[in-house]
Amino acid sequence: MAHAAHRSGEGPSLKFSALSVFFQGLRGNRDWPAQWRSPAPKSAYDAIIVGAGGHGLATAYYMAKEHGMRNIAVLDKGWLGGGNTGRNTTIVRSNYLWEESARIYEHAMRLWQDLSHELNYNVMYSPRGVMMLAHNHHDVQVFKRHVHANRLAGIDNEWLTAEEAKAFCPLLNIGRDIRYPVIGAALQRRGGTARHDAVAWGYARGADRYGVDIIENCEVVGIRRDAGGAVAGVETTRGFIATRRIGVVAAGHTSVVMAMAGVRMPLESYPLQALVSEPVKPMLNCVVMSNTVHAYMSQSDKGELVIGAGTDAYTSYSQTGGLHITLQTLDAICELFPAVRRMRMLRNWGGIVDVTPDRSPIIGKTPTPGLFVNCGWGTGGFKATPGSGHVFAHTVATGEPHPIAAPFTLDRFRTGRLIDEAAAAAVAH
Ligand SMILES: Cc1cc2nc3c(=O)[nH]c(=O)nc-3n(C[C@H](O)[C@H](O)[C@H](O)COP(=O)(O)OP(=O)(O)OC[C@H]3O[C@@H](n4cnc5c(N)ncnc54)[C@H](O)[C@@H]3O)c2cc1C
Repeated sequence: MAHAAHRSGEGPSLKFSALSVFFQGLRGNRDWPAQWRSPAPKSAYDAIIVGAGGHGLATAYYMAKEHGMRNIAVLDKGWLGGGNTGRNTTIVRSNYLWEESARIYEHAMRLWQDLSHELNYNVMYSPRGVMMLAHNHHDVQVFKRHVHANRLAGIDNEWLTAEEAKAFCPLLNIGRDIRYPVIGAALQRRGGTARHDAVAWGYARGADRYGVDIIENCEVVGIRRDAGGAVAGVETTRGFIATRRIGVVAAGHTSVVMAMAGVRMPLESYPLQALVSEPVKPMLNCVVMSNTVHAYMSQSDKGELVIGAGTDAYTSYSQTGGLHITLQTLDAICELFPAVRRMRMLRNWGGIVDVTPDRSPIIGKTPTPGLFVNCGWGTGGFKATPGSGHVFAHTVATGEPHPIAAPFTLDRFRTGRLIDEAAAAAVAH
C-alpha cells in the first residue's frame, strides 16, 4: 500500500487477480498502488456524505456507480471504518419479522452474496449459518412466528429442536440443568459473517476508483443553511465546504450532527460491547446467538472467538461500556459452551449504537431541504451495509426514497406507522 501510483481525479486502478498477485509477487510486492487516495477537500461538491463507515462508503460507491455522480466527498472525523463498522461482531442475517425489515435485510443479503466480485475485494462473506437459541416459551413463540413470517416472505428460516441444534453446533450445551436450558432454535443457513474492515476498505477503494474523495480527520462541526432553510454546506475542522446535498450517516453521533441543522432525532445512543478470545484451532462452525442471556459467539478466521454482549442500560458516548455487562455475557457463554471456560480473553471494546424507539432504521428525507439521513441501525446494521448504501444512494441522488427504503421514514414517529422489531426481538444483531 505504501507505493502509491495515483492518477488525478480517479483512484488507483490495479485489479486484484491471480495474475496481478503473481506478477506483484515477482517484483517483491513493491508496486501495489495505494487502495485509495487521501485528497484535500475541495471548496464545493455536488453531494457530501457525513460518516465514512460502511454505510456512508457504500452510499458514495452506489451514487457514483449507479447514479453517475462523481463530484462527491465522504467526510469522517476519524479514520474510515473506525466507528461501529470496525467494531461489530460481523453477524449477517435477514430473518427479521416484519415484511419491510425482511425486504431491506434480504436486499442486503443478496448483495452480500456477490459483493467480493462486485468490489474486486475479498469481504470474506461466510454463510455458515446463524442459530438463535430459544430458552423459554416466549422465545419459542417469538422464533416460530419469525420462521413462519420469513417463510411466507420467501426467506429461509427453520425451527430446530434442541437435539437438532446440538447436531448443527456440536459445541453447544443442551443439558437441562443450566440456568437457561436450550429448548430449541431458529436457524438461517444463509446467515453468517463477513470481514467488517474489508467491507469498509472494499467500498472505499471502489468509491475512490470512481473519483469520490474520501477525507479522513475532517469533522463536521456545523451545517450552514441558506435564507430559505435549505442546506448550503458544511463547516468542518478543515474549513467550509459548499454543497446542496448532505447525507448524514453518522451512526451513534447522528443526533449530534442533525442538531447542527436544527433537526431533533428520535434516537438514543448507547455503548455496545464485544470481545475476542485468544486464537484457537477451528472449534465453532456457525454463529450462535442468545437474546435471552445476551450473548453471541462465532469464530473468526484468525481463530479468535468473537463474543458480543448487550447494550449498557444507560445512554452514553463513552465507547467502552460497563464491565458488569461483559461479565454477565461471559457467564452466559461459559454455560452454553463449557469447552471455552478456561480460555483467556484478549481484548474488548465498545461502539456507540443509535437506537430508535421501534428498533428499525430511519432512511430518507428530513424537514430540511437537501438534508438526508440514514441512521437508527442500532445494534444490528452491519448486516445491512450493502443494502442500506444501495437504497440510500438512490434517495440522496434522486431526492426521493427508494421503494425498499420508503417505509423507514423519520415521519413514522409522528404518524405512528412504526416497524416494531423491538417487541419481536429484544436484541437485534
Ligand atoms: C460491539 C458491536 C457489535 C455489533 N455487532 C453487530 C453484528 O454482529 N451484526 C450487525 O449487523 N451489526 C452489528 N453492530 C451494529 C453495526 O456495527 C452498525 O449498525 C453499523 O456498523 C453502522 O454502520 P455505519 O456505517 O452507519 O456507522 P459507523 O461505522 O459508526 O460510521 C459512522 C461514522 O461517522 C463518523 N462521524 C460521526 N460524527 C461525525 C462528524 N461530526 N463528522 C464527520 N464524521 C463523523 C464516525 O467517525 C464514524 O466513522 C454492532 C455494533 C457494535 C458497536
